Amino acid sequence: MLSIDDARAIVLGATLPLPTESVALAEALDRVLALPVTAAVDVPRFVNSAMDGFAVQAGPAARTLRIVGESRAGVPAAVAVGLGEAVRISTGAALPDGADAVVMVEHTREREGEVRVEAEATPDENLRHPGEDMRAGTLIIERGTRMGPAELGVAANAGVATLRCFRRPRVVVLATGDELVPPGGALGPGQIHDSNALTLAALARRAGAEVVHAGEVPDTPQATEVAVRAALTIADVVLCSGGVSVGPHDHVKPALVAAGVEERFWRVALRPGKPTWFGVRRHQLAFGLPGNPVSAMVTFLLFARPALLALQGADPGTPRERKRLTQALPRHTGRDECVRVSLAGDEATPTGPQASHVLTSMLGADALALVPRGEGELPAGSEVEVERLPR
Ligand code: AMP
Ligand code: MG
Repeated sequence: MLSIDDARAIVLGATLPLPTESVALAEALDRVLALPVTAAVDVPRFVNSAMDGFAVQAGPAARTLRIVGESRAGVPAAVAVGLGEAVRISTGAALPDGADAVVMVEHTREREGEVRVEAEATPDENLRHPGEDMRAGTLIIERGTRMGPAELGVAANAGVATLRCFRRPRVVVLATGDELVPPGGALGPGQIHDSNALTLAALARRAGAEVVHAGEVPDTPQATEVAVRAALTIADVVLCSGGVSVGPHDHVKPALVAAGVEERFWRVALRPGKPTWFGVRRHQLAFGLPGNPVSAMVTFLLFARPALLALQGADPGTPRERKRLTQALPRHTGRDECVRVSLAGDEATPTGPQASHVLTSMLGADALALVPRGEGELPAGSEVEVERLPR
């Protein structure tokens, strides 16, 4: 059976970045840059004041200067500053011609058109110069960066109005199961609420995808095939949950194959999440994730999330850290295990019962601890690798 890393490598090997599109800055939160942002202008663009005060020619303390005008943000002074003169100035306002320093208002006293400057004004004092934030023509934000609030503001300052970004992956989530009732619906005998459609859609959105549909599909070959074919008309990525095993009511694999999806792997040496299927139809990706809610989340995080990131041209890297287990953990002899843990300092503590139907084990989890297969238990204090859960 495939290891986690080998399965992931197969997924990423089948994943190419999507085409790019132009995105207005105001719409670009969380989008991934296909072209870097370069400063079109020097920022700041002009010498300006770091303080509210008076623009002056540098000189000694205890001077009385005549106020000849004002420079405020957005409205530069119409006059220059001569010897014995001052121009009232606010923070960010352009330094008037003739001045080479700003005295902060706290060091002045004003009366009848004159200002008494109590402190010495040294050349360059309280001035901000062009290019201190960024220089025209320099690369400011790299390709592959996901645009956060700071990146958006920096791009605006750089003089940019639109960005060239990778298209967001379009995702369809199909939760298969005759037992599934949408959230809030009344439950008949043997029925349960569908949690996977919500959880997988939310995970996909957090990974930057546009979820175009998420809903339930009955356990018939026909319904599964119709749903899968419809999904493949619009989706870059189809996420199925449940119905992927080999029971008489498991129709996901044959439906995907009938719709032209080519199998790339089936089953991973992983717990929870062994019955995971992955296939490709040209540039489209299809995942048959297990139905158990924890397994669906874990396999999404291990395999589908890196694919969604790579489709957006972002780094699909899943960095690992070493942490120390606070408890002994049983080991599976044939499969590596993903244990939900909370982290504190260099310690990892399991969140509670780890069965694949116990979705509350995801609450309060910071990371998946990778417990390698082996004999007997892994003692408390052992080091394990962990992958942090995304925000
Ligand atoms: P399956 O993989 O279809 O055999 O499902 C495995 C287990 O996961 C069964 O107990 C299902 O009832 C449960 N399950 C499947 N799909 C969902 C879902 N969308 N939400 C919650 N539980 C599910
Ligand atoms: Mg099922």
